Parts: sequence; structure tokens; C-alpha cells
Amino acid sequence: MIALQETVTKHWSFHTDVEKLGWLTINTQGAGVNTLSREAIMELETLVARIEDLASSGEVIGVILLSGKDTGFIAGADVSEFDAMSDFSVLPEALKRTHALFTRIERLKVPVVAGIHGFCLGGGLELALACHYRIAVNDEKTRIGFPEVNLGIFPGFGGTGRSIRQAGPVDAMGTMLTGKMLTAGAARGLNLVDRLVRHRDMLAWEGRKAVLQKRKSVAAAPIKRLMAMGPIRGYVASKMREQASKKARKEHYPAPFALIDLFEAHGNDWQAMSRGEIDAFVPLMGTETATNLRRVFFASESLKKQGAKGAKFARVHVIGAGVMGGDIAAWCALRGMAVTLQDIDMERIKPALERGKALFKKRLKSKREVDTAMLRLEADPTGKGVARADVIIEAVVEKLEVKQAIFSGIEDQLKPGAILATNTSSIELERIAEGLKDPARLIGLHFFNPVAQLPLVEVIRSTFNSDAEIGKGAGFALAIGKSPVVVKSAPGFLVNRVLMPYMLGAVKRVEAGESKELLDAAAVAFGMPMGPIELMDTVGLDVGQSVARELGQAVPAESKFAGLVSAGKLGRKTGEGFYKWVDGKAQKGETPPHADLAGLGRELVQPLVDTTEVVVAEGVVANAGLADIGVILGTGFAPFLGGPLKARADGRA
Ligand code: NAD
Repeated sequence: MIALQETVTKHWSFHTDVEKLGWLTINTQGAGVNTLSREAIMELETLVARIEDLASSGEVIGVILLSGKDTGFIAGADVSEFDAMSDFSVLPEALKRTHALFTRIERLKVPVVAGIHGFCLGGGLELALACHYRIAVNDEKTRIGFPEVNLGIFPGFGGTGRSIRQAGPVDAMGTMLTGKMLTAGAARGLNLVDRLVRHRDMLAWEGRKAVLQKRKSVAAAPIKRLMAMGPIRGYVASKMREQASKKARKEHYPAPFALIDLFEAHGNDWQAMSRGEIDAFVPLMGTETATNLRRVFFASESLKKQGAKGAKFARVHVIGAGVMGGDIAAWCALRGMAVTLQDIDMERIKPALERGKALFKKRLKSKREVDTAMLRLEADPTGKGVARADVIIEAVVEKLEVKQAIFSGIEDQLKPGAILATNTSSIELERIAEGLKDPARLIGLHFFNPVAQLPLVEVIRSTFNSDAEIGKGAGFALAIGKSPVVVKSAPGFLVNRVLMPYMLGAVKRVEAGESKELLDAAAVAFGMPMGPIELMDTVGLDVGQSVARELGQAVPAESKFAGLVSAGKLGRKTGEGFYKWVDGKAQKGETPPHADLAGLGRELVQPLVDTTEVVVAEGVVANAGLADIGVILGTGFAPFLGGPLKARADGRA
């Protein structure tokens, strides 16, 4: 292709070809993914001015916007600039400037087509929505959405109005309020995308055709827009508020509520909505919630940078097909690995395979994908998978001699370099490794129950391990889509250690006569996802009792707690613990009134916060930041407070 006009900036390139098509490509310098930094926006201003000139002189008849990176289109605005951007003296001006730029793109006299692959999120989607037509690659990697609420804000580059214009108020607001990432097919279904192609290399050709045929996206059908008209809008807004309140409190997470207010004010007029966006957006950016959520975001991102590079994990062997082993095996198979699952006999493996199938059915789209995942999950009662595995995870009963016997029995069969891991919750790694010829090989990979829902894996380091083993363990956790936090082998590791005094403290108060409903409600008012008594019931009273014992906080034999355990009332799994459970829901009675629920909640979490401080002081986790993200991922501790130690530093806990 002959480039007739060519402009190259730090993050963009633009050229025209013999057909007078303009090819605009973003390729953020020095980064793995494209972002709309302020610099990238300013460069785009210059390029758009150039395109305006070429369009009016007839030297360009249309523009195709593509990404030059394999990772995707544009992952959003540059979050690393947000702290500086929270300054009220900078932000409104910067937003106005971007709004004006996107409007200029929309008003270009020639068609502008966006070709999307991989991540098209936040500001990236807002830019795509300012184009006249959107084509997306319909594959597993494409993800389209507005994750802004996870950062305590909402779309700020005109995306609130433009998404409503395209998808209609209910779907657009749903997408923005949940922050969910859509597949290309789902985005097409919502009219956020106009056309799907199978491969990335078809984007340029389809983009060219769209320009030549002057294709233009059509706005949402009038029937969809109805929900934003007249008094219906107020009703729809109140329903949205109701939904949003079920998930989060306004005082903790103000952004969704501010977005609903904006919708109620302007939802029938997409341009007014986009204009109103700036005033509503600015105060959110500097809130404590947004600042802390950004901190959590960076901490999660930094977890992804751990892990040895280059290691391949194709085959996993899991020993023990119980609650944990079965679910770990299924999760690894879901994430594309070939898994062999061993237990004493076939009968004990079967239920795990059934649970695996249920997971695949829930998470995978087609029957073919479910069947293929089932083929990857193989029952292996004789342990023939050990010799081929890149990763071996032991999850048998919590008994030292059983674990030792298993490891010394397989050590000679291992592939060189294979990861050897235990999922123990309480036994010192050094003791399990005692019988091994090479005790340095054994690491801990401590998963949480339920495996499919909890993102954290504690990578446990014994005194024998080197950085190499730990790096490989972290790399494996990342390869299966989990977040690894490295923790020293010490009783309770990080999460159980900090949770136990918090839960036991609440249990003690209930035993002394306080209302469990009140304590649970107080913890939720503070910002926990679930109260401590409900959590104890969910974890299982038997599990709680044994962790408590291991941490030297054994439950007194005469306590109500011990009584429940010996009566087989183990919580959710048996239908009764502190609460009765029906269909997976705790049956709660009336919550007595209390003048300061959140204050009481704060009092309840003190032991958790204190223990996190101790854990850091003891060097069980490397630093406060890691402890904060580990506790957030492992316990759900109020992300809007930035973790227990950040909350304490801010005087909030
Ligand atoms: P479980 O009792 O549900 O399963 C243990 C399985 O190991 C059983 O199926 C048993 O048949 C099998 N097994 C016993 N001896 C075996 C052997 N020699 N060879 C092969 N299989 C054998 O237990 P679980 O809750 O899944 O716990 C397993 C491990 O995970 C324990 O170390 C536990 O501390 C740890 N863990 C449990 C949880 C939890 O919430 N349950 C959370 C994290 C870690």
C-alpha cells in the first residue's frame, strides 16, 4: 500500500492510501496495552485537525481506526494519571477538551469506522462510540465494556450519553452500572457494535468496505428509548437505585448513584446526558472511595507482574478429589489445562467430575466447549498423570503422615522442573517436606473455598524454598486466572490468621447475648460483604473450629459454638449453624435498632485490622500494600477503604 499522506506521532500513526482511505492506528508507546493518556488525546487532536483538512479538500473519503497492538483496541483512559487528574483545577478542562475532540470526530464529514479486537474498555469504548460504525472480532479475547464503576467513577468522555443513544437506556445503564465486560456477540446484541468478523485480519477489509459503502450505525429503536421518556424515567431510575442499593451502599460507592441521578435528569436526551456528565463526574474522581479503588486496582495489577516468565503449564495433576481438590482440578480444566485427578478410588472421583461438569456448563457457551473441557478433566485413580504433569497439587485430608507419604511416594516420578504443591491450610510446609530428598521443591498453593469464586491463591513459602520455586508457583496461579500473594509458612498464613480473631470475637459477643443479626448488619454497614456470624456459618463451624485450634484460639468445650459442632450443626452445608439455612440463604430474624451501625461494625473489625498489622510486622507478607490486597481478595474487606491498613492509616478503622 502506498502511503500518500503520513503522520506519525508518539502514540498514533495516520496515512492515506490510493483509495483515499485514511488509516488511523493507535499504538501507545512503551506500553503493553493502548490507553488514552492526556498526551495521546492531545496528539489525536492534531491528527483530527489534519483529517478535517483532508476531508474538506476531498483527499480523504473515510477513516478506519485500528489498534497496532495484539492485546486489543484501547483499554481505557490512563489510570496512572488519575491521581493528578483528580485536581479540580485540571479535570473539568481536560474532560471538556476530550468531549470537544470526540464531538469533532463524530461531526467529521467522512465516515469513521472503529475496528475492535481484544480489550475495548472505558475511554476506548467511548472513542469507538464517537465513530460512525463499529466492527468487532467475534472471538474469546474481545471484551467490550465500561469498568469505570470499579474505580469509583463512571464514563467521562461522553460515553454515558452515547451508550444510551446506541443501546437504549436500560441496557446502557446496566452495562455502566455493573461494569461488566461484554463479549463481541453480546455487545452486538446491545447495538454497541454494528458488525462482527471472525478474525482480526478481516478488520481492515471490513473497515474499508464500511467506509466505501458509507455504512452508519443506527441508534437504539424507539421502543427501547421509551424507558427514558417522561415519568417512566423516574420510575426506571428508582428501580435502578433499588438494584444498586442491593449491591452497595451509596455512602461507600457513590458513583452508581450519581450516574442514576444523571440519568434521571437527562436520560431522554443523549446529548444533554453527555453534557451533564462532566459536572457529575468531577466530584467523584477525588473521593476517598475512588482514590482507594485506584490503589486496589494498582495493587491487583502489580500482582500480575509477579511470576516467573516463560514457564508453561499444560498438565496439572491433583491428588485428592474432595471439596478442594475436585474444584481445583475443574478450575484448571476450565482454564484450558489437561488435568488428571487422583483419589483412593473411582467412586471418590466421580462427584468431583460431576461438579466439574456443572461448572463448565455455567461458564462455557456451547455443548462442544463443555464436552471438550470434560475431556481435559480425567479421572486418574492410579496416579499415572504424575510423571507427565507440570504442576502437582496435593489436596488430601489434613493429616501430616498422609501428606508426607504421598510426596515421598511420587518424588522420584516427577518431571524435572515440575511444581510440587500442597493445599494444606494449617500444616507447616517444612514438616510436610521433611521426607523429601529435595525439600526445596515443595511450595504451598493455598486456594479458597469455593475455588471458582474466590480469586486469591496464597503462594506459601517455606524456609527451604528459593525465589525460583515461588516465582513458578505465582506464575501458575496467574496462568489459571487467580491472584497470587506470597505468604510465609506460618499458622493461618494471611487470610485465616486475620479472619479468625474477627469471627471468634463476634461469636463471643453472640454467646454473651448480643444479636447475631445486629452484628452481621453492623459489619455490612462498615463495608464487609457479609457479617462475621454468617461468614462462620458459610465457612463451616467444623473448619472454623479446627483453624481456631491451630491458631491457639481453641473454642471452649462448653461454648454454644462447640455444642453446635458436636450436634452436627456445621452451618450452611448442613442447613443449620448459628442460623438456619434454606436454599443457600441464612434465615435471619429482626435486626434490633442501633444508633451507630457502622461504628459497631468498625469495632467488630478491629481484631482483623490489628492482626493484619501484626502479620506485616512479623514479615509473613512482604509489606502493607500486599497485606491490604490479600485481605481484600481473600475476605472481601471493604475495597472502598483500600484494605485494613490503609483504612487504619486514614483513621477509618
Ligand atoms: P476432603 O475431605 O473434602 O477431601 C480430601 C480427599 O482426599 C478425599 O476425597 C479423600 O478420599 C482423599 N484422600 C485421602 N487420602 C488420600 C490418598 N492417600 N490418596 C489420594 N486421595 C486421598 O478435604 P478438603 O476440604 O478438600 O481439604 C483438602 C485439603 O485442602 C486439606 O489439606 C485442607 O486443609 C485444605 N483446604 C481446605 C479448605 C476448605 O475450605 N475445605 C480450604 C483451603 C484448603
